[in-house]
Amino acid sequence: MLRLDAETGDLFDALHGRLTRLLGAEFTANAIPIEAEREGVRLTGYAALPTYARGSSQAQYLFVNGRPVRDKLLTGALRAAYMDVLPSGRYPAAVLFVDLDPTEVDVNVHPAKAEVRFRDSGTVRGLIVSGLRHALAGEGHRASSTVSGAMLGAFRPEEPTATGAPRIYQMDRPSQGSLRASYAAQAPAPQGCMPYFNVSRPQSRGTVMATSDDPFALPALDPNFLSVPDDLRILRDALRMSRDIIAQPAFDAIRGEEYAPGAARQSDAELDEYIKSDCNSVYHPVGTCKMGSDGMAVVNDRLQVHGIDGLRVVDASVMPTITSGNTNAPTIMIGEKAADMIMQDAMQLAIPA
Ligand SMILES: Cc1cc2nc3c(=O)[nH]c(=O)nc-3n(C[C@H](O)[C@H](O)[C@H](O)COP(=O)(O)OP(=O)(O)OC[C@H]3O[C@@H](n4cnc5c(N)ncnc54)[C@H](O)[C@@H]3O)c2cc1C
Repeated sequence: MLRLDAETGDLFDALHGRLTRLLGAEFTANAIPIEAEREGVRLTGYAALPTYARGSSQAQYLFVNGRPVRDKLLTGALRAAYMDVLPSGRYPAAVLFVDLDPTEVDVNVHPAKAEVRFRDSGTVRGLIVSGLRHALAGEGHRASSTVSGAMLGAFRPEEPTATGAPRIYQMDRPSQGSLRASYAAQAPAPQGCMPYFNVSRPQSRGTVMATSDDPFALPALDPNFLSVPDDLRILRDALRMSRDIIAQPAFDAIRGEEYAPGAARQSDAELDEYIKSDCNSVYHPVGTCKMGSDGMAVVNDRLQVHGIDGLRVVDASVMPTITSGNTNAPTIMIGEKAADMIMQDAMQLAIPA
């Protein structure tokens, strides 16, 4: 027997509790609250994340002024709201309540009164589409049904080590020489710490130049690292900050002698010399075909090469500036976005004028 006691408290909490009993905890755990209003029409309820889509529209419960309805305009609006995140044949689960002035809606269009006719159907449809899309966008990657969305959703905070021992935390990629030397220095005791730092937004700019008109000839690469003095200054400041961090009491139990650059090297010149001889690049080159409209830009904001029809560049090279974090995930997103734009353009071409 189904028992549904009256809920009290905040409207959404009460609805949430009731829907959990009625539709199951799985629905409410995967649903987001919807609350939107436009021109006297109010939309409330819960709509499921795309990952909780069903194979039919059975899990769609729609109410107009409290009356359960199965209305094509409303189900069509629901489908349109999820169009970008659900393939055809998948139906979002949702419990939605549309409330409006009763004079704005005619319920006598169907013998079972399951269909309704709105005086201003455009407002109702628009409210459902934009209200749901806005709520889904607010959920960020939880509402994404793409591979990259799933990947972001799979990120987990790092687990502590089994022994509770500090682990070597690698923020950046040191040279092989540094690695070998540092590990060797730690050899007698397996613990140690090794701060790495990098210039996330370097100002130095390198070049990639064609060396001949043979497309198979290797280009000339010049990374031109540390050519802007501020990049070197940032690394020097970071090195001093690292020393300061390691000098804190929290490290007393594990701090040994400074292995590199060595406590004796303190002046700007000494630190600069160490940085220049020991620092390394990470594998995140970007921006050789940057997106934009200035003289250095290669592609426009739809990733089409300026001045050449039918050619796009879709990879890390279109980033106008380097990201502060790693480049793989942003590159995946560039690919996703470009795929969308290519499909959009193809659909426009397919529609006869
Ligand atoms: C060793 C290493 C470690 C990295 N670690 C990380 C990390 O931990 N996290 C992170 O976020 N990023 C990391 N990156 C950076 C990340 O991998 C790149 O930013 C990202 O892969 C760039 O994607 P892309 O599509 O621009 O280029 P790529 O992934 O390099 O793709 C270019 C593709 O083009 C193909 N290709 C090249 N020439 C031709 C041709 N003539 N014809 C046909 N195909 C061709 C190549 O085979 C390749 O498949 C790392 C990079 C390296 C090298």
